[in-house]
Amino acid sequence: MMRCACGSDFRCEILEERDDGQVFLRYRCERCGFRVGIETDHRKGGVLFDRPAWTDEARHRLDRLPPYVEPLVRQDVEGYADRNGLTVISTDVMMEAGTQGMVSWHPEAKQRLSRVPGPVRAMARVELERTAQDRGLPEVTVELMEEIKARYFGMAAPRG
Ligand SMILES: [Zn+2]
Repeated sequence: MMRCACGSDFRCEILEERDDGQVFLRYRCERCGFRVGIETDHRKGGVLFDRPAWTDEARHRLDRLPPYVEPLVRQDVEGYADRNGLTVISTDVMMEAGTQGMVSWHPEAKQRLSRVPGPVRAMARVELERTAQDRGLPEVTVELMEEIKARYFGMAAPRG
């Protein structure tokens, strides 16, 4: 772990995603208040952490999931990150982890997903794949999307 010139340990207080895909970390010394910021690639930045570190954005998405889904998604994503040597968990990693399931996407459904606004896309993807898996469906279809959209994403999903 990083140590301040005063001899005390730095604590990570911010872990943000930048628009360009980089992550920004801010450390603060708890004793003298000195702050230091690092901008880095989320893969390379992983060396700074010895256990999964969720970016503020990824954590926010996790927090908005229904309570019964959250621990499952957390487990899946951290498992995926672990298998791939990633410790910084960004929304990109959440998305990548979502594609690791056994469920495939009907091309039309996939196209529709790409039109869902960014902030809810990862959540919609996870929910749809999980529902398909629960029902033993081999792929996410437009019909399933319509049903889930009505249930969870009615306000956010675009009209087909
Ligand atoms: Zn200090």
